[in-house]
Amino acid sequence: MVYTDVTEMKQREAELAQNTKLLEIALEKEVELSSMKSNFVATASHEFRTPLTTIFSAADLLHHYSDHMDDGRKRIYLEEIKQEVSAMTRLLDDILLVRKLEAGMFSFNPEKADLESLLRNLVRAAQNIAGNNHAIRLKITCDSPSILIDHSLMRHIVNNLLSNAMKYSADGKPIDVTFARRDGELILDVADHGIGIPEYEINRILDTFFRAENSSAIGGTALGLSVVKTAIELHGRKISVDSTVDKRTIFTVSIPDIPA
Ligand code: ADP
Repeated sequence: MVYTDVTEMKQREAELAQNTKLLEIALEKEVELSSMKSNFVATASHEFRTPLTTIFSAADLLHHYSDHMDDGRKRIYLEEIKQEVSAMTRLLDDILLVRKLEAGMFSFNPEKADLESLLRNLVRAAQNIAGNNHAIRLKITCDSPSILIDHSLMRHIVNNLLSNAMKYSADGKPIDVTFARRDGELILDVADHGIGIPEYEINRILDTFFRAENSSAIGGTALGLSVVKTAIELHGRKISVDSTVDKRTIFTVSIPDIPA
């Protein structure tokens, strides 16, 4: 009679099956990422073309017909141009930041900052962009210590969260920005009453190039949040999101309380 030790063979088979499964998952991810990247090229071109068309026609109307327009109408066209230029600038900033991230050239330059006045300025600028479409309400419930933050990254984080809150909620819905101290940490909440994020997609919302299913009718490149996430991680902190579809979305950022 011949006895064969099957235990080792079985172990090898199990290892092989596991490695094959891991390889399959890695390949699936690679294919998904590559299709997300090509979608990105298409959406980014669209995202640039749409504002350019608006800017061109507003400028063209002002150029040819301004003699027949009253001041109110002229202001509307100039306002349109301003809004579209800032949307394009934000998009370009995102693309450049992603490039820097991929090239490992993303630097973190902490400086002494008065976060409260920085927030007030950013909310004021966002309110200018939102006009009468959204009321952006800022509530500060803690003292504003002078802390160490990277100014340009912090500006990027807040602007991105605010512009998403405006984009993904209907006109007339308010946006609440709260700055508070909770459990010894400085916490920034940006809350809207918009379309929300489906529960089954919420875990992927911070991934580069990922867009939730319910946002397909709204323009976007899916770069903003992944840059926000990296910026927050560079600050040594985390971002979390809580959302209910068609009700509300809250992004919560914890900010290191490092006295300058
Ligand atoms: P973009 O808005 O350009 O698509 P982001 O990276 O800023 O890219 O956001 C990624 C995705 O997260 C969006 O496509 C959208 O599905 C979802 N999202 C982000 N912010 C909100 C929000 N405030 N409400 C609902 N969905 C949001």
